[in-house]
Amino acid sequence: MALIVQKFGGSSVANTERLRRVAERVVRTRRAGNQVVVVVSAQGDTTDDLIRKAKELTPNPPRREMDMLLATGEQVSIALLAIAIDCLGEPVVSLTGAQGGIYTDNVHTKARITRVSADRVLRELGAGKIVIVAGFQGITVSGEDYEITTLGRGGSDTTAVALAAALKADMCEIYTDVTGVFTADPRIVPNARKLAAISYGEMLEMASLGAVVLQPRAVEFAAVYGVPIHVRSSFSDEPGTIVKELTVMDTGEKEVVVTGVTHDTNVAKVVLVGVPDRPGVAARIFGALAAERINVDMIVQTTKEEKSTDLLFTISRDDLARASQVVRKVAQELGAKDVLEDQTVAKVSIVGAGMMMNPGVAAAMFEALAECGINIQVISTSEIKVSCLIDESRVVEAVRAIHRRFLEDTLSPADEGQTRTAGEAEVNAGAGSGNSGTGMISRAG
Ligand code: ASP
Ligand code: MG
Repeated sequence: MALIVQKFGGSSVANTERLRRVAERVVRTRRAGNQVVVVVSAQGDTTDDLIRKAKELTPNPPRREMDMLLATGEQVSIALLAIAIDCLGEPVVSLTGAQGGIYTDNVHTKARITRVSADRVLRELGAGKIVIVAGFQGITVSGEDYEITTLGRGGSDTTAVALAAALKADMCEIYTDVTGVFTADPRIVPNARKLAAISYGEMLEMASLGAVVLQPRAVEFAAVYGVPIHVRSSFSDEPGTIVKELTVMDTGEKEVVVTGVTHDTNVAKVVLVGVPDRPGVAARIFGALAAERINVDMIVQTTKEEKSTDLLFTISRDDLARASQVVRKVAQELGAKDVLEDQTVAKVSIVGAGMMMNPGVAAAMFEALAECGINIQVISTSEIKVSCLIDESRVVEAVRAIHRRFLEDTLSPADEGQTRTAGEAEVNAGAGSGNSGTGMISRAG
């Protein structure tokens, strides 16, 4: 008997009809002889609607009260799904995050899971029930206050993976409104292909760089505990993408240098102009941002004149208002000349474990951008990714050009001249040779 954790996102449980379909899928999995733990998100746009209601009162609502508010969304979903499953005649129980033993630190709206106590879940499973746990929410133990917390947007993924790890589940299935993880966002790149499998490291980069299909923290958890994830559609039975540790068996002889192209438009750029060039300055600026829990992404320091430098960094646009306050204060104390802010930038990235062994990958990406006349403002790299900051208005063009360069080069020059209907031909050509591991990997699903 296998133990399967199934997580359903907001769109999968958006209305009564969809709840019924989810209930049927869960019951089918149970009746096939598996133990099933289900994690659900709030229905449809519930979380966004709740945030909007709070912001109608004030732009900066207290974070503790935001957690009290947002946690209600998932509580609605667990109860409704339990009712739908009960209608199908299967024993079921719904649990809040607290009842499900999801313990967190006390950082409201961005809490991290510190411990999972699965005894209640195990007891209910032992009694033959399907167990539904509310995603996205947890509870603190510090000081015995039992404060309700939430895990940040998309946090239900992390609840599911953390539970799967604690329960040593055989598989964590993430059901969503797309059929898997793609080589690029299929909404802007029609030739994007679904990946049969992807490694934790690559998935973590993709998720952190803008692919919204999984919360990065969930991927981190999965990697640490070796939980295999299957990202798939709740609207069909087709196999999705398996996230796991890939071996040569999976990737085959032919190495895929670049696995995917991602983009992120939730980026803002801040430049401190003319800050003194002496030890401790960067520590001061970024220390102040860290104290506000603002995540800084790219950082570049340039020296123009003696004893003075420009410091540029990028953050998420949501954090710009707070960052601006912090930075302007520090800039004044340091005697900086000016602080510039720019919300018209975006980041495009390539991700691929094969990059480590192949020189010239970054150069090929820059070339693809140069051919479109797209200017690169900032570059950052790691062993398995290269990111470029560019003008937001060019992002679609950039992603398409880079995808074409690395992931659609499977047609021979002779084929290139032929007219073909967009989409189909290239999708097939790509799936045939670009991802040679496909056949071997599908076993894991
Ligand atoms: N409902 C929460 C959100 O919208 C959590 C989730 O969907 O994973 O972010
Ligand atoms: Mg999500």
